[in-house]
Amino acid sequence: MRRIYPLTLIILLFSSQSVFGQQIRIGLFRNDFPQSVMLTSIGNYKVFADSSMLGILPSGTGIRLILDSSGVRMNSIDRDWGAYSQLLLVPNDSFAVMKIKGIAPVTKERSFGGKISIDQDAASLRIINHLDLEEYLAGVVEAEAGYGHHIEFYKAQAIISRTYALAHLYKHLPEGFHLCDQVHCQAYKGKGRSNADVLTAAKATRGIVIVDDSLHFITAAFHSNCGGQTANSEHVWTKPLPYLRSVKDNYCTSQPNAYWTREISIAEWKNYLKRYNFPVHDSSCITYCTTFKQPYRMYCLSSCNKTIPFKNIRADFGLKSAFFSLERVNEHTVVLRGRGFGHGVGLCQEGAMKMAKLGFDFKIILKHYFTGVHIIDIREKDTFAEE
Ligand SMILES: [Zn+2]
Ligand SMILES: [Zn+2]
Repeated sequence: MRRIYPLTLIILLFSSQSVFGQQIRIGLFRNDFPQSVMLTSIGNYKVFADSSMLGILPSGTGIRLILDSSGVRMNSIDRDWGAYSQLLLVPNDSFAVMKIKGIAPVTKERSFGGKISIDQDAASLRIINHLDLEEYLAGVVEAEAGYGHHIEFYKAQAIISRTYALAHLYKHLPEGFHLCDQVHCQAYKGKGRSNADVLTAAKATRGIVIVDDSLHFITAAFHSNCGGQTANSEHVWTKPLPYLRSVKDNYCTSQPNAYWTREISIAEWKNYLKRYNFPVHDSSCITYCTTFKQPYRMYCLSSCNKTIPFKNIRADFGLKSAFFSLERVNEHTVVLRGRGFGHGVGLCQEGAMKMAKLGFDFKIILKHYFTGVHIIDIREKDTFAEE
């Protein structure tokens, strides 16, 4: 066990520990600016309006909340409950789940555990889900990684999501909640179909985060498949980060997103090269630019003193990755033979899934993809030591 600096850790601990033992507040439907929503409860809920209890909402009851001139109006099929500044719905059963569906505008129904509060925010309803951090992380992990995976993979993803959530805990505080449910924070769609497995992984790793040598939360980037080699952070974004280094990855190369191809006409490819001032009438330049190989990840395509970063080509053609070679298939067509899916920085999800199946634990998985990081439990101030 390697001891690390207690003083810095105490600062880290105090700035983010507040969420442990309390509930995290997630702003829902933020991009939809809801005017009216339908809520249907599974399990009984206590209904509080402007801090006093209105009554019990029996399981299966549907209620409609509408923003009107008096505030948030609540109606059920046989009752107008009145209009209030704030409504709070508190589960009365441990299994209780609230289904929420947008009426104006119409949105897909989603299910949420924990408490739901509704009030007015500018010209729309502000809907906030109050829940335990681990329950929130389980929702995020399922939205980001899907269902049916090995628990050690879910643990690695839960730690990545926790590290992100704690690093950005104050992002939306002026709006009355910690994080929103959009990709802007982390995609959160509520309670998913395999929530039990993912929740077990989130609870089993409670308090565990990834930090760098200065004990700052790392930027825990991840992507679908690296194609056999991850990318340096500065080749995708601008900043070189010591823990986001290119590493070889043999675990993902037989996974679903390991390879892709894309055909482009040579006329289109030449026009594209012209935009970057490549001398397209120079036959040696064109031969090179239509047969270029990338046996390992490179930063840019270079010929005749001109360059294009591969990340630009990826963005301009909407390619799955920036890790590809070119092959001239006939006089009219080049084929791009690519590897991987995503930006390639940090954890490779399909590689991590394979590692988990092969029996590696979450610490080995995370340390394979994040160079020289520390995996610590920030709740245990007496054990300032690496896990
Ligand atoms: Zn956000
Ligand atoms: Zn990989």
